[in-house]
Amino acid sequence: MSIIEKLNAIEINPTELCNLTCSFCPRAYDYPNQNLHMTPETAKIIRSHVDELGFTGRVAIVGKGEPTLAKHFEEITNIFSENRTYTLLLTSNGKWLFDKYPHIFEKYDYVRYDVYDTAYDPNGNSKQRINALRHRKRLEKKFPNIYIQFKPDYGWDHERTYCLDTRAGSIGEKVEPSPNPCTLPQRRLLIDWNGDYNLCCHDWKHKLVFGNVREETIVEYINHNQTLIHYRETLMKPNSRRCLTPCSECPAG
Ligand code: SF4
Ligand code: SF4
Repeated sequence: MSIIEKLNAIEINPTELCNLTCSFCPRAYDYPNQNLHMTPETAKIIRSHVDELGFTGRVAIVGKGEPTLAKHFEEITNIFSENRTYTLLLTSNGKWLFDKYPHIFEKYDYVRYDVYDTAYDPNGNSKQRINALRHRKRLEKKFPNIYIQFKPDYGWDHERTYCLDTRAGSIGEKVEPSPNPCTLPQRRLLIDWNGDYNLCCHDWKHKLVFGNVREETIVEYINHNQTLIHYRETLMKPNSRRCLTPCSECPAG
């Protein structure tokens, strides 16, 4: 299988703004909430690269902020939704999604709604369970392509808080890196709001930049970017993370 064929997801971060500070997210610590947004021009460049690739995997509007807060969210949605060969996914915390953008559901193959509110917990007390059940039923009836995940945030120290991960050294105590190889840079590509190619979605602390969509197309980046190739090849070996930033602090994978 070629390296291009191994790529199954292109993740796009349309904004650096979020309207929550979940306890398990670097945003609850020192990650800045910034009014920075992808322009339609950048989105069009990425779209042309995706088309050149003939991509049939997943394009996800996701990233390190809440996508629906992106200044050009609707335009970016239109750029990626028209005449596509790939699956289009949106991830949202729902805060603006239902009030401002209920009409965009039809432009995505599926919309992942992460519910962080502790009022809804399928594993909680009877009231929380009923809330979760009703919420799911109501939304699934209205939006057939919604995929709901309940991730109640009870606080970083609470054993029932969902999704505890150090985000490659961005949160919590320093941990030992996993001894396992990491295939993430082969399978997924992360593009930041300004078109920068980043290492991966776990790297919140350093946000390593390996290039930009204005300098290299996705095809060129995957096949020829020497920094990416170095990470990809090194991470294929067991116990290799110690010599790479931020992988030396990453327990993921
Ligand atoms: S987990 Fe998502 S919704 Fe929560 S603060 Fe981080 S970016 Fe925002
Ligand atoms: S080891 Fe962790 S930080 Fe490094 S590429 Fe893999 S997931 Fe990302």
